[in-house]
Amino acid sequence: MSYNGLLHKYGNLLQLPAHTRPITLLEGDTPLISAPNLARALGGGFELFIKYEGLNPTGSFKDRGMTAAISEAAGREVKTVICASTGNTAASAAAYAARAGMKAIVLIPQGKVAAGKLAGAVAYGGQVVQIDGSFDDALGMVVQISEKHPISLVNSINPFRIEGQKTSAFEICDTLGSAPDWLCLPVGNAGNITAYWAGFQQYNNLRWTGLPRILGVQAAGSAPLVLGHPVEKPETVATAIRIGKPARGEQALQAAEESDGRIIAATDEEILHMQNQLAMLEGIWVEPASAAGLAGLAKEIAAGQFAAQGKRIVAVCTGHGMKDPDIITQGMGKPKIVPPRLDALEEVIL
Ligand SMILES: *Cc1c(COP(=O)(O)O)cnc(C)c1O
Repeated sequence: MSYNGLLHKYGNLLQLPAHTRPITLLEGDTPLISAPNLARALGGGFELFIKYEGLNPTGSFKDRGMTAAISEAAGREVKTVICASTGNTAASAAAYAARAGMKAIVLIPQGKVAAGKLAGAVAYGGQVVQIDGSFDDALGMVVQISEKHPISLVNSINPFRIEGQKTSAFEICDTLGSAPDWLCLPVGNAGNITAYWAGFQQYNNLRWTGLPRILGVQAAGSAPLVLGHPVEKPETVATAIRIGKPARGEQALQAAEESDGRIIAATDEEILHMQNQLAMLEGIWVEPASAAGLAGLAKEIAAGQFAAQGKRIVAVCTGHGMKDPDIITQGMGKPKIVPPRLDALEEVIL
């Protein structure tokens, strides 16, 4: 059977209004890739899978929520959508808006957006505005603008974004036959952790798939949910989760508590080390934020605070490595140059 996108496949499980008119790029249906080498490196004795969300059409999981939010807006004949973004929401909103014949306006924090994300937003025809402030400032502004003008908000405070993002939990259960024991994922504005928890609960009520415990991971320099208070000037190399005042923070804490899980922080060093390990051991290159869930898992295991033995663990890798090439290229030397002669090549590689 051909794949026709998330709303076609799971639409009957999503609370979307009747007027919804599907706009799809065939998002979702991403692979759940086993990661035995990384599992062994972390001590072994458990099953580890990567839900590789970087393989969505615009390179991040945001497409799952965006197909729902833009489809709902399209059904209302919306002409313009707006969002604040650390980058991936911007690219996703611009792409789906283009397909729906809408205008997309995206507000990004000045100078803190990875190259592949900004390029995407521009390529898809979004109007990009830099704010001399943080993501949190930008989010406050788009909320106000959308209340004042006929412009629809497509950040994850839009409930249809959450509806769309629940589908990843459905896919994981469909692939494994049940929920995993643990789900690890990065937490920024906290829409995704909220959506996963809602999705797993819904599927369990429907199909008895069980529930995972959830390990949410923030970057240490922007960890409001770990610290228990907003962070005024969040800092981290994991720009996708550089958020000091998560819109769905309460729901994230609730997901962690209800699932008997927790929310912890990983340092930038731990995050980048995990990004490197995942690429070198498994051939899966993700952007820094996407490695945070796994970095948190590694940290918990190393600290002896995590009974991994015999467990089935899924780590959500939220965005593709190509989104943020600079983080790799800035630290590397230029590849060696040799003359076009076999002996010169042999000297270098043998
Ligand atoms: C948006 C994003 C996150 C954070 O998701 P929230 O729903 O804001 O918690 C994590 N990783 C990547 C790559 C993202 O684009």
